[in-house]
Amino acid sequence: MTNNNNLTSNRLRLAIQKSGRLSEDSIKLLKDCGIELRNVKDRLRTEAENFPLEIFFLRDDDIPQYVEDGVADIGFVGENVLYEKNKKVAVVEKLGFGKCRLSIGINKSDEYAGLSYLQGKKIATSYPVLVNKFLQENNIQSEIHEISGSVEIAPGIGLADAIVDLVSSGSTLFMNGLKEVETVLNSQAILIKNNHLSAENQLLLNKLLFRIQSVRKAKNNKYILLNAPNEKLAEIVALLPGMKSPTVVPLATEGWSSVHSVLNENEFWDIIEQLKNAGAQGILVIPIEKMIL
Ligand code: ATP
Ligand code: ZN
Repeated sequence: MTNNNNLTSNRLRLAIQKSGRLSEDSIKLLKDCGIELRNVKDRLRTEAENFPLEIFFLRDDDIPQYVEDGVADIGFVGENVLYEKNKKVAVVEKLGFGKCRLSIGINKSDEYAGLSYLQGKKIATSYPVLVNKFLQENNIQSEIHEISGSVEIAPGIGLADAIVDLVSSGSTLFMNGLKEVETVLNSQAILIKNNHLSAENQLLLNKLLFRIQSVRKAKNNKYILLNAPNEKLAEIVALLPGMKSPTVVPLATEGWSSVHSVLNENEFWDIIEQLKNAGAQGILVIPIEKMIL
């Protein structure tokens, strides 16, 4: 007896963060792609139930190295970590989660008139490579103090004049008496791959990538249903893009139709407004689970 599992004994090895801000979203993305993992708690590795995928749970800082060395074939990691580590791997796809920015913070009460503020100052950061590059590009000479955590307290305890750290809402900076004055890098989680992936593994990656892209497209789009009086139909249909064109079906009530379409999140609110103005009624908006074009 043969089955698919025996035929494809080859597995793609994926490195994700063991515990931290990227962990939950990494596992959720796999789940949304229909990939089930067992026993993810307290494990260093596990195998997917229904996809030839093996998962390694690592510190995020180690993921670029593992992928460069080919110990893992692919990894999910923040752009901030990848560009700080400077490893030779290929970026395959942005994943849309783990969004943050690497920003410069200074004392709230200090005047900030531009980057020259940093000239000759001490900067505390866990990102010396990215900060050095940024300072060089802007012709600023500062003293960089590399520290591995709690960077935001450095100015308060007299260790530095400014910090460069990851920010999402900015509340941590604010709570430590700092203000954000400049962005060094915008970051999100990305999928990276080893530069020498075998042909077999590239095929598996293509399969996984197809699923990831379908899930991400679906998230950015909504299914919309509405009722339209027939005399307004042409105007309403013209407002809707749809995957090919909107579906129009007659309602049981004479003179009315139901219109179905797909809308992108970015244009969503604008178009809803216009649809209402054009006479659309009973507008329903439904999430899409997967979207394959
Ligand atoms: P590890 O133990 O794996 O080294 P860590 O403490 O370095 O974990 P986390 O704080 O869990 O890392 O952050 C992991 C990644 O999450 C960051 O490198 C960054 O890409 C992303 N991230 C998103 N938002 C934020 C934020 N507000 N602060 C810090 N990191 C963020
Ligand atoms: Zn880390």
